[in-house]
Amino acid sequence: MSNVAQLTPENAKENTNDMIEINDSSRGLNYDENLLFEKEFTDTPGVDLPKPEGIKSRTGQPTREKIGIHQVSEPQVVRHFVRLSTKNYSIDSGFFPLGSCTMKHNPRLNEKLARLPGFAHIHPMQPESTVQGAFEVMHDLQNWLGELTGLPGVCLTPAAGAHGELAGVMTIRRALLDQGKTEKTIMLVPDSAHGTNPATAAMCGFKIRTIPTKETGRVTVEAFKEALGDGKDIAGMMVTNPNTCGLFETDIAEIVDLLHDAGGYFYCDGANFNALVGKIRPGDFGVDVMHLNLHKTFSTPHGGGGPGSGPICVAEGLKPYIPSPLVIKEGDTYRLERDGERPTTCGRLKGFQGQFGMHVRALSYMMSHGADGLKRVSEDAVLNANYINAVLKDDYHAPFEGPVMHEALFTEKYQKQSGVTTLDIAKGLIEYGMHPMTVYFPLVVNGAMLIEPTETESKAELDRFCLVMKKLAQDAKIKGADYFHTLPQSAPATRLDELKAAREPKLRYKPEAA
Ligand SMILES: *Cc1c(COP(=O)(O)O)cnc(C)c1O
Repeated sequence: MSNVAQLTPENAKENTNDMIEINDSSRGLNYDENLLFEKEFTDTPGVDLPKPEGIKSRTGQPTREKIGIHQVSEPQVVRHFVRLSTKNYSIDSGFFPLGSCTMKHNPRLNEKLARLPGFAHIHPMQPESTVQGAFEVMHDLQNWLGELTGLPGVCLTPAAGAHGELAGVMTIRRALLDQGKTEKTIMLVPDSAHGTNPATAAMCGFKIRTIPTKETGRVTVEAFKEALGDGKDIAGMMVTNPNTCGLFETDIAEIVDLLHDAGGYFYCDGANFNALVGKIRPGDFGVDVMHLNLHKTFSTPHGGGGPGSGPICVAEGLKPYIPSPLVIKEGDTYRLERDGERPTTCGRLKGFQGQFGMHVRALSYMMSHGADGLKRVSEDAVLNANYINAVLKDDYHAPFEGPVMHEALFTEKYQKQSGVTTLDIAKGLIEYGMHPMTVYFPLVVNGAMLIEPTETESKAELDRFCLVMKKLAQDAKIKGADYFHTLPQSAPATRLDELKAAREPKLRYKPEAA
């Protein structure tokens, strides 16, 4: 499709009686944006450079007349990318209730601090004496995270939650090796787990044994005991708490005691720490290793907005095994741990020191909130989720008994009676200008809708979301599936063929055959 209307001064003069066609859908200052490669390939260069004269090839190679690069000028390039950027929905454009992702507002104070030249313009290979302030930030962050989790061994380098999981499970594997416990080859994982949990354990060479949670949405002591068996081959257990159904694992302390008696380690997936931060310390309910998603709980931007950061925090006994380098304080000076300084480490996982810009933002977030503010964060996050749970529970089927923690889980059960599915509801939300919730996760219920409002949404925003959800429930009853299949009608791209997108993904631009 061409971005240019078919109107030129010439044809306007010639064809005054013909209907003028504009064959793109740029409307309302909203441009139809094609790929740069689809823009008119003209012989007009994007910049005016004099044609080089009298240059002789010194190698005798044939000279290249055209190199096939599309000719665009600076304003065309700028407009192209600025227009594309406006199509990117983000937490700065509106409510983003993606369950498990903690899409909270990122305070601008954090951005301001991360942009201070002394932080933004340093190089990771600068001499240590010139970056003492940066090390102090990292050291303070290690201390804050250790304090908040009750787990004193902190390594900041992992670059995402899943990377933190890798760091944590490698730490467990290194510890087991050190103790000569090679018979411990099995990792227990509940069926509601985030896919990264079993994937990480498998990558580290463990076999996965699944703990079913079907009826209650939680790991029960009975189901755990059954999966544990005599415990001889159990390396550990990976549990998200609160779990992916938005529920607190109420039997966790008893389960962890049994796990510890069997010599297994408890890995807590800390992606849902927003429900607990400042209220309880995971170390107090027996966690041995935990990763934190700074880009979730501690508000560093994510979702197309920035890199992640997934530090791990471990109990005292696992400290010798965590990845290096750590930031060490000696007297009044800071330094990085040297290679080989701690021979029991499971190794280095990342170039340099991790996502330093995220460390600055996260520490700024913690220090500006303080211990009391962080407690308020989790209280408000839980309150907001329970508000949504209460307002929508008559319209949507809630599979488990509340109250919930920081997210509300519903299923498509009631709407399915009219043939309307979770996917249809998600498309309906887009029609009303709202980003959908997480859909079809967790897998333990059919047609899951996982809604995480976070603490930074106002009651007015939550009310508008609930109103739209109620309207969609009503439309499902009255208008049925055929209507939903036309949604979204107002988005730049209307209903896509999901099946075709999954089966025949077009991942490369291929020019149309001439
Ligand atoms: C987000 C999330 C992860 C993975 O974190 P990334 O930073 O996306 O790699 C793991 N577990 C749970 C429960 C999550 O919500």
